[in-house]
Amino acid sequence: MQLELSSPAQYVPRVGPAMAEKLEKLGIFTVRDLLYHIPFRYNDYRHTTKISGIRPEETVTVVGTIESIVNIFTKSGKRMQKAVLSDQTGHIECVWYNQMFLTKILKPQTTVSVSGKANWFASKLVLESPVYEPMDGIDAHLHTGRLVPIYPETAGVTSKWLRGRIHFILQTCLPHLQESLSQDILTRQKLIPLTRALQNVHFPTTLDEAQTAKARLAFDEMFLLIAKSAYRKKQRELLTHAPVLTIHDAPLETIITRLPFGLTDDQLQSIKEIRQDIGKNIPMNRLLEGDVGSGKTVVAAIAMYIAHTSGFPSILMAPTQILATQHYVTITKLFEKFPLRIRLITGQKKENKNYTEKATAHITIGTHALLTDRDVIQHVGLVVIDEQQRFGVTQRNILLASTPHLLTMTATPIPRTLARVVYGEMDLSTLMHMPSGRKKITTWVVPEEKRNGGYEWIRKELTTHKTQAFIVCPLIEESDTLLTVKAATTEYERLKAKEFKDFRVGLLHGRMKPKEKDTVLSDFRTKKLDILVSTPVVEVGIDIQNATIMVIEAADRFGLSQLHQLRGRVGRSDLSSYCLLFTESTKDHAIERLKALETTHSGPELAELDLTLRGPGQLFGTRQHGLPDLKIATYTDPVLVHAAKKEVEGLSITLLSEMFKESKIESIAD
Ligand code: ADP
Ligand code: MG
Repeated sequence: MQLELSSPAQYVPRVGPAMAEKLEKLGIFTVRDLLYHIPFRYNDYRHTTKISGIRPEETVTVVGTIESIVNIFTKSGKRMQKAVLSDQTGHIECVWYNQMFLTKILKPQTTVSVSGKANWFASKLVLESPVYEPMDGIDAHLHTGRLVPIYPETAGVTSKWLRGRIHFILQTCLPHLQESLSQDILTRQKLIPLTRALQNVHFPTTLDEAQTAKARLAFDEMFLLIAKSAYRKKQRELLTHAPVLTIHDAPLETIITRLPFGLTDDQLQSIKEIRQDIGKNIPMNRLLEGDVGSGKTVVAAIAMYIAHTSGFPSILMAPTQILATQHYVTITKLFEKFPLRIRLITGQKKENKNYTEKATAHITIGTHALLTDRDVIQHVGLVVIDEQQRFGVTQRNILLASTPHLLTMTATPIPRTLARVVYGEMDLSTLMHMPSGRKKITTWVVPEEKRNGGYEWIRKELTTHKTQAFIVCPLIEESDTLLTVKAATTEYERLKAKEFKDFRVGLLHGRMKPKEKDTVLSDFRTKKLDILVSTPVVEVGIDIQNATIMVIEAADRFGLSQLHQLRGRVGRSDLSSYCLLFTESTKDHAIERLKALETTHSGPELAELDLTLRGPGQLFGTRQHGLPDLKIATYTDPVLVHAAKKEVEGLSITLLSEMFKESKIESIAD
């Protein structure tokens, strides 16, 4: 049977069902998966020498003949295999431990290649636990005498075994493999052909060669990811048409000047971008990103106003009833002086579901309850979704399928480099800076030697101003596991007995019963508690205006945007607010990183910094954001992202459709 890349891995000779099951733990299901199981490093066994030339401490490869081999019991109860290897220049001892089967494989007179490090052992030079391969096998010089690939392994699946199977696939499949990129792209991006890349990534002759191979494969991965969203984007643009929503400069200026406040430059820029988009009959799909409080609603409101002046109603959808109501209040106020009909529809209120009434509303605000009414969606010119990640995929798809212009808003910071890949289908507008006049949350990094001073300052502040404080305990594991909860509980006991013995201290963590949580939170809200100690992951998404101090323990364990979001729990009123970042770290770079929070108060900027300093894993769980796992490429490589994006932009829709019709390409990306 001809082995195809899409064939199940078990059909590869010497794999079989039992090994195939183990491979699944490594995410390997098909022949292609095996081929794309990429080494994470290489052992350098290139230095080949005669036995007489072996020097202590050197990692060498020698080819010789087994003279003798025996099993020995050491005093410590170990079983040792001792072999004598010889060539024309001399002989050397090789030892292994607990590998009884070796006496059967490395029989006397076998010619064998071994790689390992030479060490002094009882005043003799010995090769300790060297890698070996008999020279009569088909796999000769796969495991020794070269750069040897080391793979991610799992129980029962060693790098040595993987090496053999991958070598086999390379030999049988590579000749039939088709190049996936055009010659133009290969030339422009200075990339090597696919077959050579796959060969060299597994069995390079130099480390440079391995690097070049990885670069080619990383490009493929990023290119396909971006091409796929470009394909989806173009498809939507071709299949759906949108009404042209325009406004003259004069009425737009009028509404802007009649707002209760002046817009920030970022807001004006975003409005400009949206206005350009919706002025075309190609449906807009834009993401408006900005911190909580950065003023996204007014941007959306103006977009909806433009739709209205072009004769089209709009919808604004929020994930919860509270948010929908809040939007309703804000927007009604914004348009106080304008003859606009604004309606609120949430699931709970018994609304008048009369079609004509809804149709005559210029702006309809509500929860996803809106979606159940197809008429509402079908007649609108613009849909705005707040916090889209909180809506389900189906709800989003309903909207994408039937919505002309779509504006999505999010407070989750996404660095631009990442957004270009993750939200490749969307265009991006960012509100970097807060409206002026906003009180900044004064932030200090507090090193260990100033901890007591920090507590003293908090005690004074709480006593003088009768305000309240959050104390967030160290992040020990990803969620509120027992360990994290224990740490928080201990810290709570300590603070209550010592530093804050004259204050009322409460504890909140994820393992508490909902009722207990409610009680603690409501005690904090009604000022029956001065200080709330909590685990980091527990959601305190509540507006407690009197809480003005946020203390974060072991702040160095958090990403900058995480810290920024925690900090956002205070500063909800006119009161001066503070964030104290406690750290025991004495490392300069850790302190420097935290100090960014003292000067930077923009979520998107901090997210960008996070990405360069610590990589995307620190920003958020990748799953949560639907980021596909990348095998070779990294999201944090702006040069790669840029190059791939540029090449995708040059592809026609015909080419894109062809690409994604051919399964060979799709499955690499999936
Ligand atoms: P978010 O981006 O979190 O949705 P909102 O749109 O709710 O933020 O805005 C937060 C508050 O800031 C609102 O009360 C809004 O009226 C106000 N606001 C928005 N833009 C400005 C501005 N340019 N100047 C002053 N206040 C503004
Ligand atoms: Mg908002």
